[in-house]
Amino acid sequence: MTNQQPASPQHAPVTVIGLGPMGLALADTLLEHGHPTTVWNRTPEKANGIATKGAHRAGTVAEAVAASPVTVICLQDYAAMYGVLGSAGDALKGRVLVNLNSGTPKEAHAAASWATERGVAYLDGAIMVPPPLVGHPESVFLYSGPQHVFDEHRATLASMGGPRYLGPDPGLAVLYNAALLDMMYATMNGFLHATALVGSANVPAVTFADLALNWFMPSVVTSTLTEQAPDLDKGHYPGDAGTMEMNHHALEHITRTCVEQGVHSDQPELMKAIAGQAIAQGHGGKNYLAVLEVFKKAAQAPAVAPARPQP
Ligand code: NAP
Repeated sequence: MTNQQPASPQHAPVTVIGLGPMGLALADTLLEHGHPTTVWNRTPEKANGIATKGAHRAGTVAEAVAASPVTVICLQDYAAMYGVLGSAGDALKGRVLVNLNSGTPKEAHAAASWATERGVAYLDGAIMVPPPLVGHPESVFLYSGPQHVFDEHRATLASMGGPRYLGPDPGLAVLYNAALLDMMYATMNGFLHATALVGSANVPAVTFADLALNWFMPSVVTSTLTEQAPDLDKGHYPGDAGTMEMNHHALEHITRTCVEQGVHSDQPELMKAIAGQAIAQGHGGKNYLAVLEVFKKAAQAPAVAPARPQP
C-alpha cells in the first residue's frame, strides 16, 4: 500500500500532525530514536521548541504528509482529523496513517472507511500512558487495523512505546482504551471512596493505602480476578464459597456504614443496585462474578434516578 519503503525501519521518516502535549511527546521521542521527523500543527508556534531539536516544520498539511511514508496523527478527536486532513488533497494516497487520538469504535470504523476510500492504509491506535512515559518500551500503545501494515511499520511504532496489536477490526484499539480506562476510574473511585470512609475516623490515606493495596492485589486481583477469569468466559459462577445474596448484604452494610459515618454513599448504593439486578435476573445463588451477566446488556431501567428536569 505504501509508495515509499523506508530504507532502515529503525530510522524511517515519520510525520507527526498535532502538537498538543501528546503529539509533542511523540515527535520528541521519534527524534530521539533517530527518525527524520516532520511536524505540523494548526497553531504553528507550538512547533517552535521541537523545531530547535531538529524536527522539520511543514508549511502545509499536504507538505507534511508527503514528507514521510507514515503519518502519525494525534489531535483532540476524529472530527479534528477530518478537518485537518481534508486540506491534504491526494498527498496521503498510498501512505500510512496512524491515528492515535481517543474516540469510540464507531468513529474508528468510520475513519478506517474514510482512509480506504482515499487509498490510505490506516491503523487506529490508543496510547495508555501520559506524555512523560512516551518512548519507553513498557509503555502500552494499542493498535488495530490491517496486520500487514502493523507488521511492516512495527519498528517505527516501537520508537513511541511498546506496540500491542489487537486485531484487524479497527475499532478494537479505542474499545480496549475505553475498557481499560473504565477499569481504572472504577478502581480509583473504589480506593478513593474507601479512603474517605476510613478518613471519617481520621485514618490517614497513607496508613490505609499500605494495608488496602497490599490486600487488594493478592486477594482480589490474583485470587479472584486472575484465577477465575476462565470462569467468566464459560459463564460459570459457582456460589459454593459465597453467593450474590451474601454480597448484596455486604453492599448493604457498606452503604449503611457510609450513611452512619457521614460519607458520600452513591457509589456503594449503585453497586448494591447492580447486585440487586443480578439477583432479579436469577443469579442470587451464584458468586459475585455473575455481575458480568448484568454488565453484558444495556440497563433496562436506570439504576440511579435521573436528575429531575429544571422547570
Ligand atoms: P488535546 O487537547 O486532546 O489535543 C490537542 C491537539 O489537537 C493540538 O494539536 C490542537 O491544535 C489540536 N486540535 C484540537 N482541535 C482542533 C481542530 N478543530 N483542528 C485542528 N487541530 C485541532 O491534547 P493532547 O494531550 O495532545 O491529546 C491528543 C490526543 O491524545 C487526544 O485524543 C487524547 O485523548 C489522547 N491522549 C492524551 C493523553 C494525555 O495524557 N495527554 C494520554 C493518552 C491519550 P492547536 O494546538 O492548534 O490547538
